[in-house]
Amino acid sequence: MKNSDENSTNVKASFPCDKCDQTFGSRQELKEHGRSAHQLL
Ligand SMILES: [Zn+2]
Repeated sequence: MKNSDENSTNVKASFPCDKCDQTFGSRQELKEHGRSAHQLL
């Protein structure tokens, strides 16, 4: 069985929130988090 989750340089992009300690998988998620959690426009 092939494990596609092996170590590689193709890591998921991470978008850390600079207001709190959370990290998101996409810019969109970070943006939505900022809006809902920190009331950013
Ligand atoms: Zn945050």
